[in-house]
Amino acid sequence: MRVIRTNAELSTVLTDTSPAFVPTMGALHAGHLALIRRASQVALLSAKPVSAKPAPVVVSIFVNPTQFGPNEDYSRYPRMLEADVAAAASAGAQIAYAPDVNEIYPQASPSNFSMPLPDVATKPGLEDALRPTHFAGVCQVVARLFDLVRPAHAIFGEKDFQQLLVIQAMVAAARDRWPDLQIIAHPTVRESDGLAMSSRNAYLAPAQRENALGLKRALDAAQSVRPEDAERIMRDVLMRHELVIDYAVVRDAKTLMPIGPSSIPPIRALIAARLGNVRLIDNAAINP
Ligand code: AMP
Repeated sequence: MRVIRTNAELSTVLTDTSPAFVPTMGALHAGHLALIRRASQVALLSAKPVSAKPAPVVVSIFVNPTQFGPNEDYSRYPRMLEADVAAAASAGAQIAYAPDVNEIYPQASPSNFSMPLPDVATKPGLEDALRPTHFAGVCQVVARLFDLVRPAHAIFGEKDFQQLLVIQAMVAAARDRWPDLQIIAHPTVRESDGLAMSSRNAYLAPAQRENALGLKRALDAAQSVRPEDAERIMRDVLMRHELVIDYAVVRDAKTLMPIGPSSIPPIRALIAARLGNVRLIDNAAINP
């Protein structure tokens, strides 16, 4: 496993290869490791000829300041590079790219790397309503990382479902910039009791940890009712778990528009809710 801290070293190591790439903010858990294992498989399966050495798996570990709002947890976000490098290696990564902020945004100039925001980033009542600068920061850092890593494949978790759609739309709108890049979606990895794994789960006090299960229980409850009743049912379950709801909605899974009587699947339920100052998100396909 090679740990790289600068763009100069990265470009030397990645000459003539198109990696399988997993962007992360670190504090790696089993969800991230599943993405890394998936990247290894993808690299192996896309080696040409099949006997050729597979492309390397690159994991970036970078807490991106521009995707955090002013009152969010940027400064206290967990940072544990040594443990992350060991975990990423155990899941099959060959390169950990852990740059300093100045490497990603030279001369402290993030705005030089701004990207147009896809429509799906600004759908009413979702992330953008509560975190208005979040997806601009995500697009900025992911575009920057794609330019530096030049991957053939990049793996993203369905855990951040709107983010996945935003990245897919960003890449589709910039095909000339990343002509061969494929975005691969990986299902949400959960604890044995159903809680979606998240680096922010570490902030939960024991009583909050129990109530955090309300998100998965709300998504499960939404499965057994008509889609038009799902939002009310989800809100009931969340409130019973003392969760403060940012949103609990059922949307068209491709456009994230509200559904109506003539909507056709796929449909997705999406939740963001808070326990104290810990904000949790989760989502699930709704199969009518
Ligand atoms: P983060 O480090 O939180 O920015 O996440 C990095 C990547 O891991 C993103 O593509 C996330 O969607 C993905 N991810 C985070 N948690 C999970 C999970 N529980 N299951 C699957 N993917 C996840």
